[in-house]
Amino acid sequence: MVVFSEDHKAETCRRGRIEVICGSMFSGKTEELIRRLKRATFAKQQVEIFKPTVDTRYSEEEVVSHDNNSIPSTPVATSQEILQLITEIDVVGIDEAQFFDEGLIQVCNKLANNGIRVIIAGLDMDFKGLPFGPMPALCAIADEVTKVHAVCVKCGDLAYISHRTVPGEKQVLLGEKQEYEPLCRCCYQKALKDEKK
Ligand SMILES: [Zn+2]
Repeated sequence: MVVFSEDHKAETCRRGRIEVICGSMFSGKTEELIRRLKRATFAKQQVEIFKPTVDTRYSEEEVVSHDNNSIPSTPVATSQEILQLITEIDVVGIDEAQFFDEGLIQVCNKLANNGIRVIIAGLDMDFKGLPFGPMPALCAIADEVTKVHAVCVKCGDLAYISHRTVPGEKQVLLGEKQEYEPLCRCCYQKALKDEKK
């Protein structure tokens, strides 16, 4: 079970920091990102979300809320663009960070060193269980890492991976969320064995 602390210090203290929210698909990463960003807006902080352009067809949830406190979301092609686009921002959210280039690590450090709170959400592993893109390095440089979990569709335990239910070698299948299922480690091993039969 994940218990979220009421870390109000991070919301009011204007010191730069890096927070990473990682986990499998269906684990609620984006919801947690939005929850933190919304609290920051209530604290009168300027907030903006960046997401990779590749994400336009592959979005777990829209990074926009449907009330008056909607958070502006800007698609960018490279991590460097984030530095070029930010102006008077207190908190930067980055969604689907696994699709960004490795330059994102340096970009996040630069932002945090300049007093910006950076909150990153992304898949920790690809469907093969391998660390995904810049996520492992982002976890390493983060001040705080939160791992969120989906629920295994086979046994109800905490899921560990997004298992792809259709064959294919490509790391990213765009817009095909229905072809993944969250599984725990045990059920994932069973599924792999069954596929080899
Ligand atoms: Zn299971």
